[in-house]
Amino acid sequence: MKPAAFTYHRARDVDGVTALLTELGDDAKIIAGGQSLVPMMNFRLARPRHLVDVSRLSTLRHVTPDGAGLRIGALTTHHDVETADGLDPGFTILREAMAWVGHLPIRSLGTVGGSLAHADATAEWCLLAVLLNARVTARGPGGSERQIAAADLFLGFYSTTLEPDEFITEVVFPRPAPHAALTEFAERHGDFATVAAAVDLDLDGDTVRGGRVALGGVAPTPVRVDAAEEVLRRGGRVGPQLFTECADAAAEAIDPPSDANGTADYRKALARTLITRACAEASER
Ligand code: FAD
Repeated sequence: MKPAAFTYHRARDVDGVTALLTELGDDAKIIAGGQSLVPMMNFRLARPRHLVDVSRLSTLRHVTPDGAGLRIGALTTHHDVETADGLDPGFTILREAMAWVGHLPIRSLGTVGGSLAHADATAEWCLLAVLLNARVTARGPGGSERQIAAADLFLGFYSTTLEPDEFITEVVFPRPAPHAALTEFAERHGDFATVAAAVDLDLDGDTVRGGRVALGGVAPTPVRVDAAEEVLRRGGRVGPQLFTECADAAAEAIDPPSDANGTADYRKALARTLITRACAEASER
């Protein structure tokens, strides 16, 4: 398949992006790594009349410690994070999660900002952002900027609260998560996950004092699971008993869809298994 005709524009700097988006209006789309947009255009699921190429904006390609946190530029590729030097061990989950994103050629072109903007409910960056309370910086007309909490970014399937004339410049992970892990199940290596689970434990020695649990693939957006977090808040010794209780509570609380990739019951079973596994991996860090 070939895409419908479009006009190509290359942004030379960050201000140029917003100027082009404002000028071209709803008919324009940003293209970053093209790893999601190009397939959609080839299948004619997207037919933008104008493409604004931001891929050469090197100032938006960085992984930068910021106090206790980490700033990642929107144009940073998945592979950049996978191979980032000197990353605080508290952000190991980010590096390790990249192994689940497609294959190396996709990770070498696909970007963090593109992934967040594309808002696939099983995408690793969307899940990590929700789990770790990340904040996304969106730049709009005239250079205005606003911060969007990840919990407020995702609206539904492939849909965000970004305005058509806004684009993501960076994402900030505010604090390290030394006892966090992400795991998932996909039919084939490199496919999007059927279900993905991510856990961030608050540990005091071998005691769990709380934690966060997020799932992808069980709702139109990645979700935090309160019922599972309540089990962690009640606390207990690190080990299978607490982790199974946490996973059972999550499976009970979610209402996943049934589709060609699996029934609702199958997804619940996957969620249970994956949360137990993620808790165990997180506790071993
Ligand atoms: P693009 O394709 O260029 O753009 C995607 C969308 O985001 C477009 O709507 C575009 O307008 C918008 N956009 C891009 N950048 C910005 C920005 N800075 N601000 C606002 N809007 C922006 N992803 C996963 O997470 N997990 C997987 O397992 C996975 N497997 C894949 C397997 C295959 C075979 C393929 C082809 C892709 C896979 N991907 C997977 C997708 C990949 O991660 C993409 O890189 C990512 O979803 C989009 O990033 P991109 O830079 O390629 O964005």
